[in-house]
Amino acid sequence: MTSHPLVASGSVPSSSDPLSSVRAVGLDGPFDLVVVGAGPAGCAAAIEARREGLDVVVVDKSTFPRDKCCGDGLTTGALRHLDALGLDPTHVPSWKVIHDVHITGPDGRARVFPLPRGRGQYAAVARRRELDAALVDLARVSGAVVVEATALEAIERCDDRIELRVGGKTVRTRYVIAADGMWSPTRKMLGLDTPGYRGEWHAFRQYYRNVSGRAAEELAVWFDADLLPGYLWSFPLADGSANVGFGIQRGRRHGIQDMKDLWTDILDRPHLRQFLGPDAVPEDRHTAWPIPARLGSSPLTSGRVFFAGDAATATDPMTGEGIGQALETGRLAASSIARAGARRPGLAAERYEHQLRSGMVRDHAMARLLSTALATRFGATASVAVAGLTPWTRRNFARWLFEDYPRAILATPQRWSVDVFRQPAGYSSADQLPQPPNRSEGVGADR
Ligand SMILES: Cc1cc2nc3c(=O)[nH]c(=O)nc-3n(C[C@H](O)[C@H](O)[C@H](O)COP(=O)(O)OP(=O)(O)OC[C@H]3O[C@@H](n4cnc5c(N)ncnc54)[C@H](O)[C@@H]3O)c2cc1C
Repeated sequence: MTSHPLVASGSVPSSSDPLSSVRAVGLDGPFDLVVVGAGPAGCAAAIEARREGLDVVVVDKSTFPRDKCCGDGLTTGALRHLDALGLDPTHVPSWKVIHDVHITGPDGRARVFPLPRGRGQYAAVARRRELDAALVDLARVSGAVVVEATALEAIERCDDRIELRVGGKTVRTRYVIAADGMWSPTRKMLGLDTPGYRGEWHAFRQYYRNVSGRAAEELAVWFDADLLPGYLWSFPLADGSANVGFGIQRGRRHGIQDMKDLWTDILDRPHLRQFLGPDAVPEDRHTAWPIPARLGSSPLTSGRVFFAGDAATATDPMTGEGIGQALETGRLAASSIARAGARRPGLAAERYEHQLRSGMVRDHAMARLLSTALATRFGATASVAVAGLTPWTRRNFARWLFEDYPRAILATPQRWSVDVFRQPAGYSSADQLPQPPNRSEGVGADR
């Protein structure tokens, strides 16, 4: 594909005129790739595409740093991708490495699930405001032109290109990766939306500061009976605060419109009050957002347009985690496009769809099945109890929960390899952080 000198040097747009850098390379293009949305999916796509030598423009309606309603939890999968993309955790001040997962079942019994020590980072928590801004910086350093405060307004498909209307200007491109989130304006403009679709989950988040010592250190999840298969979480951040929230599946006991009242009720629950401590104060306002988790049921591609991350409804149907999936789908979309080249959009789409349908789509089908076990009080109590039976089950449950290895490993023999359970986690070579001792006791204090 072609190469624009300015793009290759990684120009930074002036804040007074967000489109200046695009204008400098000529609005006509055509560029190899325009990425709509600079969240994890969009930045991962842009960085991967630049590595493959494509010229890339990223447009986002927001100005970074910007907040994104999220639990801020990074799974093993997400951390491997962030490491591979070259993200430096020291650029994210709130980044906190997690070594143990504290889970309380509906029966009130708390158990501790340890993650492996000394082989990299298996879980971490990082404020999205900081993480996403660091990814945008990395996309720029990689040579992508990132245009902030500029929304996609219209999209038109021509034979060998796509014309986008952004910030009142026309930009021509060979391919588009739509990484524009749950409500994907690109999907909507192309007429591909499912009427009435509002996601499988809905989740609520609030930051707390002045939290107790435990809340500042421990990653805790509670399977309260009325929220099943949803859960309540408190995730610690390096700045001493905690990201607290809960997610519920649509169509279960609680309606989405009741979540605000439910939040008041949840904050009064003794186990959460005790965990956060008497001095905890909410930071800013709470936010809520839907979570799309039906990968494979909504379009993955449409001609020269590829969908990634939440725009591809790629979050995990069991946990609602979507950062790792956004990074993975963004990278896969970009590499499929780069390898097929400008003239073979059919081949690019086939590659992307094949890779997702033979991997992540199957993992999500398995996760969906397993989440039915967590939907009842008995099932959730039994699952947590069985997972906590021995040191071996505790260790492997934590790794499985954090997507260390594929959920549908048994159904996907093409991914079997001798070291599938022994791959190092992300940041294994740079893992110089002090490691706390291994926990031999798997059962913590009952609530
Ligand atoms: C409350 C809650 C808690 C969660 N907790 C976790 C968690 O702990 N761990 C985890 O892994 N996942 C979690 N998730 C899911 C995770 O937040 C998403 O899956 C993830 O953000 C998806 O990334 P993305 O890049 O696809 O989309 P987004 O992060 O939503 O980024 C989309 C980008 O597109 C831009 N955009 C939108 N419209 C336009 C337009 N017209 N023109 C230009 N740009 C546009 C937006 O400004 C945005 O920057 C949670 C979700 C919620 C709601």
